[in-house]
Order: sequence, then structure tokens, then C-alpha cells
Amino acid sequence: MVGYIYDPIFTLHGSDEHIENRFRVETIHQVAQNFPLMRYPVRKATKEELKTIHEAHYVDWVERAYEEGYRFILNEDTLLTPKSFEVASFAAGSTMPIVDAFTRGEIRRAFLNIRPPGHHAERKTGQGFCIFNNIALMARYAQSQGFGKVAIIDFDVHHGNGTQDIFYEDDTVLFFSSHERNNYPYFTGSEEERGAGRGEGYNINKPYGDYCSDEEILRIYDDLPTWFEPDIVLVSAGYDLMKDEFISTAQITFDGLRGVIRKILDFAGDKPIAFLLEGGYNLESLGRSVEVTLEELTKFDTM
Ligand SMILES: [Zn+2]
Repeated sequence: MVGYIYDPIFTLHGSDEHIENRFRVETIHQVAQNFPLMRYPVRKATKEELKTIHEAHYVDWVERAYEEGYRFILNEDTLLTPKSFEVASFAAGSTMPIVDAFTRGEIRRAFLNIRPPGHHAERKTGQGFCIFNNIALMARYAQSQGFGKVAIIDFDVHHGNGTQDIFYEDDTVLFFSSHERNNYPYFTGSEEERGAGRGEGYNINKPYGDYCSDEEILRIYDDLPTWFEPDIVLVSAGYDLMKDEFISTAQITFDGLRGVIRKILDFAGDKPIAFLLEGGYNLESLGRSVEVTLEELTKFDTM
């Protein structure tokens, strides 16, 4: 079986007028009904857990920001609504029941239909629709449960600057990101950003130009770092690289996406792998993209 996380709590943040809205997870949840998935209950991350990846003052600020009159983080990309702290705590915390299920050997693959997304959230601040860095918390929690070496693969069309920031000096968490060069967040994501200190060589950026084709992205995914030999693979699954999306010029088709997912599954081999929702804003394209992902995850799943 393939593990699955969803809960209506994820609809209670943000605004229906914002492109990162509740209809995204609701659309995906409809698609998920057609697959044999093992659903796990959500869990809220504690502030102490969030402080393993974010600076304490940022976590404390998010908790009280709405009450104090703040309505966004940095700018109106990242809204704060009455339940944002709670919903974001559930999005990050719900990664942990999946790690626990991996540890118990119940499942080896999972899809997490969660929001708000996380990969732009840095140690000091959220941004770019992201409040807390869900995949970073999952990586740290997995390490606490014995998965020593974590590979994070990020195929969202935007650079995962937050994940890069959190693990930049860390050689136990490898970060591999493919993304459109001339796109948000603009000032990070070059090939020269390779990590620092012990983490040098463990941060791998693969920026591409405008109008990225299937061939181009598939070539990038021929270069997954098999030398790292991870104990667990976590995927920032952002579907805004698809050709029908409106916030990039990338031209990836569903066949191209399927190829990318197969290469990532091959890279994971028999190690546990989890896909966490990041971007993807055209609901029709998003639904079909997750369908392709779940088709591949449930195929040849021997557990
Ligand atoms: Zn994105």
C-alpha cells in the first residue's frame, strides 16, 4: 500500500482568491479516491519541533502574528488568516506519521496532500506561499528515527531556497533542485551554490532556461546523485512545471512528468520515499499530475 495524508484542516488557511487556495488539495483528494491508498491521521507539529528547523523567534511570531494585526508574511504572496498558524503546524507535523509508518515497515511509499506548501520557508522566515518548511521537518524527524542520510529532490519549477538554506552546511541531508532560472525567488538557485563547510557538495542546483522541454528535464534527472546512498528519499512535488501552468514557461507534458517520477523512484530503489505537495495552481493540470504520480507510486509497489 501507498500511504496518504489529507485532512479538511488543510482547507482552512488563506483565501479562495489567492492562487494557493483550498481547491488545490480538494481537487487532489478527489483524484486520490481512485487509488488504493492507506490513509494516516494528521498530527500537529509542536513549537519545539518547528524550532528544530526555524529560528525560535519566527515560530513564536507566526503564532501570535494574526492576533497582533499582521495579515501576511513579508508580502501578500504569503497570507496570514485566523487559522494559518494551526494549519501550517498540521502541514509540517503530518509528515511525522508517515515517517512512523516507514519505521514500522507498514508502507514504503507515500503522498502527502498538504498545504500551505513549505520549500520557500527559510530558517528565519516564511515566504512565497510557504509558512513552515514541511519537508525540512520531515527530514529532521526521519533522522531522529534512524534514517541517517536523507535525500531531498525538488522538481517544483521554483528553487527550493528554504530547504537549501536550512541544510546548506549539512552533509547528512542532500538537496537536489531543478527549477526555472528566471523565476521566483530569483536570487538563489545557481549551480555555484554547492553547500558550505561539511555540507559542501551536498547542495545540487540544476537551473534550466525558459520553455524547458521534456527532453531537457529528463536529462537533468539522469544525474540524480546515486553516490549519496540515502536511507530515505523525500520529494518536493511541485507541479507548476507543467505546460498548462501559468506561473512559468516550462513545457513539461504528462509523459515527461511520468518519466521524471520513474527516475526518482528508481533512484530511491527499495528505500522509503515520500512525495510532499508544493506548487501547482492550474486545478485541471494539478489533478492529472497527481494522478500520474499516484499511478507510478502504486505500480510495482510490493508492500
Ligand atoms: Zn513553485
